[in-house]
Amino acid sequence: MFRMIRRRARADREWREAQRAGQEMLAMHAELPVPDLRDPVSGAATAAAPEAAVVPDFLPPDFRAPSRQDVAGFMMRWDQPLVIDGEVHACPTCGSYRDWVVFNMRDGAIWLRCRADHYALEPRLDSAWYNRNSGPADRYHPNLEDGLRHLGH
Ligand SMILES: [Zn+2]
Repeated sequence: MFRMIRRRARADREWREAQRAGQEMLAMHAELPVPDLRDPVSGAATAAAPEAAVVPDFLPPDFRAPSRQDVAGFMMRWDQPLVIDGEVHACPTCGSYRDWVVFNMRDGAIWLRCRADHYALEPRLDSAWYNRNSGPADRYHPNLEDGLRHLGH
């Protein structure tokens, strides 16, 4: 039991370090096309004020897909139960098994966050798995909180 707590404390510490790195920038993968995403072209055309060009939500004209070096990590929603090695994965802290946010950090580590804000490293998943299961990244977030808010968490 002590070892489990210590291990969890270490995972928390690792998460905090990853989170600090995440303050740099996170990119979000939309799991499905999000209907409220504004088209940057039509959005600019209907914008009355010239300031609209610098609204952070707008994709820059020279937008390019972020590479792993550009961001602290990627994140996506995973609403349905997450099956790992043939088993439905449950949060080790509270037991919930759906409504995840999945992080793929720059170092390749996968972190899972449940609705109750528990974070856990998931060594059985990797960047290859993440890339297979995520859509293209469609926006940058300046910090973790902004990314979570955008994902509805
Ligand atoms: Zn939990």
